Amino acid sequence: MKQINKQSLKNLNIQFIPAKPQMKKVKVWDQDFLYDTNSMALYTQAENEETKLEGVDEVSFFEKSNEPQEKHIVFQATYACNLKCRYCFVENHYCNHTNTLTEDEHYVALKKYQPSGNYRLGWFGGEPLLNWEVIFKVTEKLFKEAKDNGKQLPKCHITSNGVLITEEIANYCAKHNFSWIISLDGPENIHDQNRPYRDGQGSFKETMRGLKYLAEAYKNLNKSNPITLRATFDTVSPDILETTKFLNELMYKGLASHVSVEPSCLGEGCSVGTDKRIEGLKIAEIRALFFPQYQETAKWFLKEVQEGRKPSIHHFQMPLQRIYDRDYAISECGAGMGYISVGPLGKICACHREHKTEMGSMENGIDKIKQAK
Ligand code: SF4
Repeated sequence: MKQINKQSLKNLNIQFIPAKPQMKKVKVWDQDFLYDTNSMALYTQAENEETKLEGVDEVSFFEKSNEPQEKHIVFQATYACNLKCRYCFVENHYCNHTNTLTEDEHYVALKKYQPSGNYRLGWFGGEPLLNWEVIFKVTEKLFKEAKDNGKQLPKCHITSNGVLITEEIANYCAKHNFSWIISLDGPENIHDQNRPYRDGQGSFKETMRGLKYLAEAYKNLNKSNPITLRATFDTVSPDILETTKFLNELMYKGLASHVSVEPSCLGEGCSVGTDKRIEGLKIAEIRALFFPQYQETAKWFLKEVQEGRKPSIHHFQMPLQRIYDRDYAISECGAGMGYISVGPLGKICACHREHKTEMGSMENGIDKIKQAK
């Protein structure tokens, strides 16, 4: 047996408790691997070679040593939206789509939950740019305060459908080093089918226009592109490979730096309860629906790498990198782990993409038991 990922453990903020290896056999196309789920050590195994556990990594089980701390605040700037995407969780799960977060509510939340030092601040929705005036005012104030007090500038992020991005907004955000997730579901026909305006017209052209303004603004300032293109697919004729290829082509052209293609109906609460096609199915059964397409996409990804390109699909890169670096994470998301979302009416949730994770309110603070769950 030969260990592939030898790099030493990087994350020092954890406690290790030695435990026996939990070896799993993994077949990737024609080759056998052994993977210790405890220590994240990955081994090749020659044909007919017996599995011997001597010599495998003895550092296995781990625990986070500190309490969760609020590090990343996401404001649900508004539940309102100019689109009507068919898998929209806001549309499906929040009854009042017009609620909007005020400027003052931002400051109250920041005062209560803003951690010291390095923190990240995000805006989500609905479509957050419908509340751009407030985002602008909050950013101006926070940057001024940070500069006046010699503090580190906040790192800001917006997740947007892109259609309201103007040159002015793009230039301002590039100047203030915002990062972005722009929702784009693939080529025009796929995108427009998934993400129409309220009158049924497709939004592809305007999303692309906004994306171009953004990419141009960072380029003009000689800043690296901080845009992730995020596609969502559901059970209605998903084409994961075509979508991934399309978004990667845009990335190769300099319009983005990262690509993510994600289902609306697995981990998030988006389509669950609203998509009749998956009603009654278990997660494993829903996953099986997409498995052949993921395999095709993985083959394409590998071919791109072999041909010297640097493709991107977040949910391939992230676990591969994690295994390669043996970089532990108790969870792949930040819910309950330093991430809070503040919505209109002061509702605090563990995640901005899920409607069932309420864990407190600005009035009463965070319920630590709910947060721990
Ligand atoms: S852009 Fe986002 S909030 Fe708006 S309808 Fe689509 S999924 Fe919902």
